[in-house]
Amino acid sequence: MARSASPTTPDPAVKQRPVRHVREHERRVAACTACHLHQGRTKAVAGEGPMHARLVLVGVAPRRQEDLRGVPFAGGARNVLDNALAEAEIDPDEVRITSLVRCRPPNDRSPTREEVGACSGHFVTELDLMAPEVIVSFGAFATEVLYGRSIPIERIAGFRLAIRQGVTLIPTYHPVDAVRGVPQAATSLRRDLVAAKAVLDGRLRTGAQVLDELRAEQAVGS
Ligand code: SF4
Repeated sequence: MARSASPTTPDPAVKQRPVRHVREHERRVAACTACHLHQGRTKAVAGEGPMHARLVLVGVAPRRQEDLRGVPFAGGARNVLDNALAEAEIDPDEVRITSLVRCRPPNDRSPTREEVGACSGHFVTELDLMAPEVIVSFGAFATEVLYGRSIPIERIAGFRLAIRQGVTLIPTYHPVDAVRGVPQAATSLRRDLVAAKAVLDGRLRTGAQVLDELRAEQAVGS
């Protein structure tokens, strides 16, 4: 795992003491000044959806629309995501949607590893409150931070990877990729959300066996 940006090594300035309720998490994010990104934000994005969710969707950082509205996905990307959830027969009210970084980087650039590291305490707080069974990571960057290896999304999308005891990571394309017309993005997003639902329903196996397949296919170096 890319330790400098790891969500398991929170910045002590962010994770000062245990957070016991979603409202406290939201207040802490809204008030956070742990990195310079707070200076340019309109609204910090704490996440959306119930903390009891078994499925968590993880993006990278708010973009312009999300920053204005204070929600994790907005505009065309939200439409793509909502449609994909519907096609996978996943109840959107039972999903937690969040991101690695809570404040919009300038000009919608990708966050730096230092910014991800500074914000990681908020992500850890959410995980501690939720205990999800499946995490779907949107795009190569979010996948790298959560899985700890840099792998092109076209090579790792759809694999079911064990990242914590009882937690399956399924990387997929970012909804924004589908908006931009990236080949396979919309199809893979739908397919991988269907797989997430199947894992939750116990219809699809998960974890280490699939990682072995990944290595066997030499999609990544061992
Ligand atoms: S990006 Fe995260 S760490 Fe930085 S100010 Fe916003 S909430 Fe705090």
